[in-house]
Amino acid sequence: MRLHSLRARIALVFVVLMLVAQAAAFLVINSVILKNANRNAEEQLAVAERVFAQVLRGNSEQLTQAASVVALDFGFREAVATHDSKTVASALQNHGDRIHADVVMLVDLDGKLIADSGGVGHEGMAFPFPKLIRTVAKKGDASSFGMIGPRAYQLVAVPVKAPIAIAWVVMGFAVDDALARDLSSLTSLDVSFLTAGDDGKWGVLASSLADGARDALTNQAQLSADGYATRIMRLHSEGRTIEVLLERSLNEALAPFHRLQSTLLLITLLGVLISIVGSVLTARSVTRPIAALTQFSKRIGQGDYAAPIEIRQNDEIGELARAFNQMRDGISEREKRITELAYMDRLTGLPNRALFNDRLQQAIAAAMRENRPLSVMMMDLDRFKYVNDTLGHPIGDMLLCEVAKRLRAALQRKSDTVARLGGDEFAVLLPANDLPSARRVATRMLRALEEPIMIEGQLVDVGASIGIVTFPQNGTDMNVLLRRADIAMYVAKRSNLGFALYDERHDEHSAERLSLMSELRQAVEHDQLTLYYQPKVDLATHRVKYVEALVRWEHPTRGFVAPDQFIPFAEQTGYIKTISRWVADKAIGQCAAWRRQGIELAVSVNVSARELIQSTLPEIFQGLLDKHGVAPEWIWIEITESAIMDDPNHAIETLDRLHALGIRLSIDDFGTGYSSLSYLKRMPVDELKIDKSFVMGMFQHKDDETIVRSTIDLGHNMGLKVVAEGVETEEMLERLRALRCDLAQGFHLSRPLPPAKLEAWLDVWQTTTQTALLAAPPEEA
Ligand code: C2E
Ligand code: CA
Ligand code: CA
Repeated sequence: MRLHSLRARIALVFVVLMLVAQAAAFLVINSVILKNANRNAEEQLAVAERVFAQVLRGNSEQLTQAASVVALDFGFREAVATHDSKTVASALQNHGDRIHADVVMLVDLDGKLIADSGGVGHEGMAFPFPKLIRTVAKKGDASSFGMIGPRAYQLVAVPVKAPIAIAWVVMGFAVDDALARDLSSLTSLDVSFLTAGDDGKWGVLASSLADGARDALTNQAQLSADGYATRIMRLHSEGRTIEVLLERSLNEALAPFHRLQSTLLLITLLGVLISIVGSVLTARSVTRPIAALTQFSKRIGQGDYAAPIEIRQNDEIGELARAFNQMRDGISEREKRITELAYMDRLTGLPNRALFNDRLQQAIAAAMRENRPLSVMMMDLDRFKYVNDTLGHPIGDMLLCEVAKRLRAALQRKSDTVARLGGDEFAVLLPANDLPSARRVATRMLRALEEPIMIEGQLVDVGASIGIVTFPQNGTDMNVLLRRADIAMYVAKRSNLGFALYDERHDEHSAERLSLMSELRQAVEHDQLTLYYQPKVDLATHRVKYVEALVRWEHPTRGFVAPDQFIPFAEQTGYIKTISRWVADKAIGQCAAWRRQGIELAVSVNVSARELIQSTLPEIFQGLLDKHGVAPEWIWIEITESAIMDDPNHAIETLDRLHALGIRLSIDDFGTGYSSLSYLKRMPVDELKIDKSFVMGMFQHKDDETIVRSTIDLGHNMGLKVVAEGVETEEMLERLRALRCDLAQGFHLSRPLPPAKLEAWLDVWQTTTQTALLAAPPEEA
């Protein structure tokens, strides 16, 4: 127990208080006892005084009686009168002996001893106490103390009458140790008879004290000794003063009180002991819960909220414990909330990136241990930015929440995690799924998002692109998996596939891809790229006034590489800028060359999303138009609908500037990008290109035909030219013509061709169509 501890202090205060109380009680009781003892001694002395006086009086009466008996004896009186000294002596003797008197005398009227049977004096000697004789003569009897020689006596005198007094009988007892002892035993006091000598010193005449004490008595200057209660009585004496010292030893008097005192002391000590134990116990009962509370708060400080503190007391400590428990609940609740917030996406309530990474890390470890697969999906909403920009952030937020709800519903297992990583990016962890089942989940997710979403009365239409990776095929490290899922997602987005599985060739970090990139760089430098041109045929006139430039890569060892295989990578790496510049330069140059040859072809160039948001695009085109001396209206730019919808506001701004130059704009792959009419109206476009998937599916799917037809109508209503791409059969061509589509492009008419071959094809086309027209002119013509 530390000295400064509360417990020690409480115990100390208690003990000190108890000690003070006990000591005070002890002192008070003790002083009462002492006072009592003193009073007792005093009372004893007073009683003794009375007893003493009584005894002396008794003695005196006994003496007087004996003396009177002698004095009244007829024979004795006669003997006195006749001076028969023999008889006198024997009578005195007889009566004196009867009471053991020490002094038996007969004194004549002159004060001379006539007879002395005690042998204290001698005949004829003057009786030493004349006053005694005067008193007896006057009163008839007298008594007194007096010294004869060295000894003291109690004396009485009575007259011998015949009939008048003729002599005096004097009788006395010696004041000796025997008397002192008798008195002492009667009074329970020490009794000493003292006389002051001529020198003023006290001498002991007789005493009940032992010799040593008797000597000590005479040596004392004062007669009241310490440790004794004393009383000094002066005896009625003649001659020397005789005093009686009554002593009561206080020690003796206090003896019973001392026993009481020691009992009291014992009780006091016991009380102190009990109070010490009691106070230590009390202190402990106070401080033990405090120590427990201290431990508890330390535990809380260390973040351990596991168990509440158990103090079942109904006092302040219990209240404090309850308050502590409430504090614990509050803190753990808040901590839980903070952790939730740290790991939760606030908008959707889904896990956030931190939690997702955490779970993925754990899932990878578990999958590794148990030797089973897992899948990770990365998902990005298409056109989210458009929704956000056109309908506002609140709608965008609601859309994200709805998407989150649907995604959650699309997941079947409890162990599956869907998280929002930020913006419109979501991720899914399927801890026990292989590739086929991940594919099924992805399909389910896409289908869930296909269902129209109504937000505040508005129909919002979003799609999604999902990248899928599996463990361990696509990597065993979390970051590698995430990056690759991202790459796969980008591929899905690019190709409008909905979802894509990771393929090593997609990865800009894969060996193949790295070499592809460096080769692509070489391709531009060493002129391995060429442009092919695919004509667009006017369905009404059969004339060809437009061609689309499509890039081709003749790889020295790989052979022909399709643009779908390198354009997405070029876009990802940013190298697309160089390629686009090259393509635009080549295409505009070709356009100028054809014009010089008298071939009037407008050339379309494809521009990707990435360039669209690059604001220098108009300047680049302006520069190239100037360089080749080409009129802007001979150049068309094709942008895919989804590229515009990625970031519509930005896209529209760039498109406006390109349009202002005089360049024509065409929306490529129309029908796949879910653009809305209202927003289409805001764009300065001249042409819609119906996506080839609809055109090619026209005869199989009724929906596709509907889309083709309504796109044509929509385009016409807006004053736009409508092109159908992917025309592979005559049947399609006829159907499109019937639907009043303006232009057709496709393998049925011509594959993309190098310039020289295109020129040859044009020659053939013109002759055959002219022949055909001549043979069967169109109805309207
Ligand atoms: P796109 O702009 O939609 O181009 C049309 C694609 O459809 C071309 O494929 C073309 O060869 C193909 N095609 C034409 N007619 C038919 C047909 O009847 N049936 C079928 N099945 N396909 C037909 P290509 O040349 O492989 O180009 C693929 C995509 O690569 C293009 O799609 C375009 O998005 C991109 N691309 C091509 N060249 C360039 C370019 O110079 N720059 C940019 N940024 N992208 C380019
Ligand atoms: Ca195109
Ligand atoms: Ca197209």
